Amino acid sequence: MKKQFSWIRDALKEAERIDKYDPGESAESLANRLGFKSEDILRLNANENFFVPLSLLKALLREVLEEVDPRTYPQDERPVLSDALGRFLKIPAEQIIIGAGGDQLIELVSHAFLKRGDEVLSIKPTFSIYGRATEAAGATYRTVSLKENFSLDIENLLSSVSDRCKMVFLCSPNNPTGNQFSLADLKGILQEFGGLVIVDEAYVDFASYSLADFTEKSENLVLLRTFSKAFGLAGLRIGYAIASPEVATVLNERFQMPYPASLLAIKLCLKLLDRIRIVEEGIEEVKNERRRLLKRLNIVEGVRAFDSEANFVLAGLERSSDEVYNDLLSRGIVVRNIGSILNTKNCLRITVAPRPMTNRFLNAFEEVLSNEPC
Ligand code: PMP
Repeated sequence: MKKQFSWIRDALKEAERIDKYDPGESAESLANRLGFKSEDILRLNANENFFVPLSLLKALLREVLEEVDPRTYPQDERPVLSDALGRFLKIPAEQIIIGAGGDQLIELVSHAFLKRGDEVLSIKPTFSIYGRATEAAGATYRTVSLKENFSLDIENLLSSVSDRCKMVFLCSPNNPTGNQFSLADLKGILQEFGGLVIVDEAYVDFASYSLADFTEKSENLVLLRTFSKAFGLAGLRIGYAIASPEVATVLNERFQMPYPASLLAIKLCLKLLDRIRIVEEGIEEVKNERRRLLKRLNIVEGVRAFDSEANFVLAGLERSSDEVYNDLLSRGIVVRNIGSILNTKNCLRITVAPRPMTNRFLNAFEEVLSNEPC
């Protein structure tokens, strides 16, 4: 009998409803295209953290390389990291789920708790991966716009919850707006909504407060965290979630892969947790430089930069953001061209970086904006 593969074509067709993720052009390809050396491209588009000294990270990686046997699975190391994180965060280690970065943890909670026909509610604008992961898990992803000041529209959010809605995804501080949602609003959703509330705290280390203290008692709260931002380890792909002991145990024992993070990543996190002052100093520098970047941006005519609790700043321009983005690009500077957000048109998102990098951006930005548009 001839094999029937038509269902594969159907599955591929069906997958078209899932948004593609576009990470943008690579530094290497940009450099080639624009005639720069790759190291001269200034990447302020991915909220990476260049404040953690590269020399230190390389030295620690070399130590790790001496210590590990890459032929073995990281069986013992994962609980050791959960314990170390638990001590650092002052929460029981059993509430922690280690993963291969925030993205993988978004996928983990989606496939653990969603099935076809379920609905997921989130906000607009926010991080695009929530839609992608939850739709891949078979759910329908719907969004409610933030208010014009970027705060949560609680009434609208709660009245949009249908019987089929199993999960609400929030991001606080929110990417790309940079603001943190009020504790009262977040607590209100936790109390009113009968499903899981996933709060992505990828940028929380640069912000004023966290919901970590609520995780032990709130059965329906899952926090997502990452080592990519405050710890500067985006390339190593490691993060963690914090949930109630019951939810965390099920996620760890039934749904998470046995070895989600690499030995090198786990070991390096342990070394950085032992030197937490360095991470904390980097966070302070982000906050100082963020203040300076905001102030400088807001002096430029035709620019409105919004307060931020993250390691990036969102700015709305009177000029076309496409043009400004391209003019910066031709100078080897990459920012994120966001376009319209609610009623704010022409938005760019700029990573907060060490002073020399920020100065290069600001000089170019001021020059670009002082030129008449063609
Ligand atoms: N959540 C948010 C809000 C993000 O902006 C990002 C990355 N930019 C992530 C999660 C993914 O982080 P990770 O590198 O840990 O996968």
